[in-house]
Amino acid sequence: MKLHVARMAYPVTSLGPGQRVAIWVSGCGMRCRGCITPDLWDSSAGRVVDVDRVLQRILALRMPLDGITISGGEPFEQAASLGRLLRDTRAAKPDWSTLVFSGFPYLTLRSGKTGADALLSQTDILVAGPYDRRRPGVHPLAATANQTVHYLTERGAALRNKVESDTVHRADVALGSTGEALLVGIVAEDARSRIHKALVPADTPPAAWMP
Ligand code: SF4
Repeated sequence: MKLHVARMAYPVTSLGPGQRVAIWVSGCGMRCRGCITPDLWDSSAGRVVDVDRVLQRILALRMPLDGITISGGEPFEQAASLGRLLRDTRAAKPDWSTLVFSGFPYLTLRSGKTGADALLSQTDILVAGPYDRRRPGVHPLAATANQTVHYLTERGAALRNKVESDTVHRADVALGSTGEALLVGIVAEDARSRIHKALVPADTPPAAWMP
């Protein structure tokens, strides 16, 4: 099975509880105004990589991690491949939690119309709904107030207090694979552009992880 995958960062502390490995997939048809990752709307922004190769890269990380976060792009446009990746990651790392950010509303995912079950069934915590720049978020994991957070499993529910007592909102500054600065987290649009301008030289191409 193949994945369109664009980036990987670790350890990330701003996209879910504890220290996590985060993966950004490419491809999203929603085109929300104010999206933090418009460079990932086109699926060709990422590389087409075998799921097993991504898994090997994750399992090769030698650091204490608490889970895996999937963002994008739209993860549910690749639900089958990501479901497989999370299933195999959980098999190898049974203590890890899984967290997925989606632009689809929760009821759309639950309706089965998008073939979402393969990924939903491997997800402990789901953040669902499109980015709506008119409604600033107040939940640590929701960028805008229309987005909803769902604790889908016992493991997810056990993490609820930890998630909801976290700071609203914050970000990590991480280095990409070629030394470029990456802003990783949930940041208001105005602050985001100020930080980005301060960190990233003009005309810097989007960061890409090449597995
Ligand atoms: S769904 Fe997410 S990735 Fe897609 S355009 Fe909206 S905010 Fe961006």
